[in-house]
Amino acid sequence: MKIVVVGAGAMGSLYGALLSTVAGTEVWLLDVWAEHVEAINRDGVIMEEPDGIHSYRNVRAVTNAKEIGEADLAVIFVKSTLTKKAMEESKAVFGEKTLVLSLQNGLGNIEQMASVVNEGNILAGTTAHGATMLGPGKIRHAGRGKTILGEPDGCRTGRVQETAALFEKAGLETEISENVIGLIWDKLLVNVGINALTVITRLQNGKLLEHPEIIALLEAAVKEAAAVAAASGIKLGFADPVAHAKEVCAATSQNKSSMLQDVLNGRKTEIDRINGVIVREGEKYGVPAPVNFALTNLVKFIEGEAK
Ligand code: NAD
Repeated sequence: MKIVVVGAGAMGSLYGALLSTVAGTEVWLLDVWAEHVEAINRDGVIMEEPDGIHSYRNVRAVTNAKEIGEADLAVIFVKSTLTKKAMEESKAVFGEKTLVLSLQNGLGNIEQMASVVNEGNILAGTTAHGATMLGPGKIRHAGRGKTILGEPDGCRTGRVQETAALFEKAGLETEISENVIGLIWDKLLVNVGINALTVITRLQNGKLLEHPEIIALLEAAVKEAAAVAAASGIKLGFADPVAHAKEVCAATSQNKSSMLQDVLNGRKTEIDRINGVIVREGEKYGVPAPVNFALTNLVKFIEGEAK
């Protein structure tokens, strides 16, 4: 089975490396970062785990999709702001039967993918794993969690079950959901509440909860996003998304959010696909989202200054 990971950064390298341990898989990592691709082809993916450092050599990395050809499964792991561009540049790996799976954060990935491949070939989901890029070819597997995937229309198809079984064989605890769109929104609402505020305050997740003025903004941002979700007809998994966002904040108290890490490393954030998308979706449905508007613009300003 030919598997391609499009965007082999922290998460793409993690999933690609683990999938390469399954008998019968041929895993290709496709990335625009030439130094990283070279390092993987030389030394494999080097992964720091709590039990030590492991090297995964059974993967091939390339910068050009044409070297790969059509894949059976493509896992998209670029930042959500780059999904459309990456899909267009990776056209050579998508055949008529290629399943295309997004486990990215943010909203709009499915739509961006569907602008390049048949909507019927798309699977979606979420991941609770955490990974950090340490340098070319090197990642840290920062935390383990569930992978949840499904058909966007909620059907429990054979191909979802086969994909979940493949992930399980790779050591990735995986569940199937009949409401992956709701799950993506659940995760979005957590990111809406935490990420931008960590960038603006430079605080670790847990520290946000030590400041009443910041808690008020977290609550307001998530409430706006929940109202937008309701107006869009989304079935959220949590009755109280504000409480859930705070629970995640507390459970990940020592973490520097990925958005804060992006800014600290001078990289572009996913703000447009997190708080920004709440503003745009809100406009569509007449739901105001002024707190998300302010957070989006402040992060864009900070991001611009960081360059
Ligand atoms: P990352 O920045 O480490 O990796 C993205 C990779 O995509 C980079 O290596 C980059 O060079 C590559 N890329 C950019 N444009 C490309 C293109 N046109 N074609 C091919 N490759 C291209 O990001 P990440 O942390 O791995 O995150 C990926 C997605 O997963 C994001 O949506 C993120 O929110 C989500 N996510 C991340 C984590 C985490 O712990 N890192 C956890 C859960 C979800």
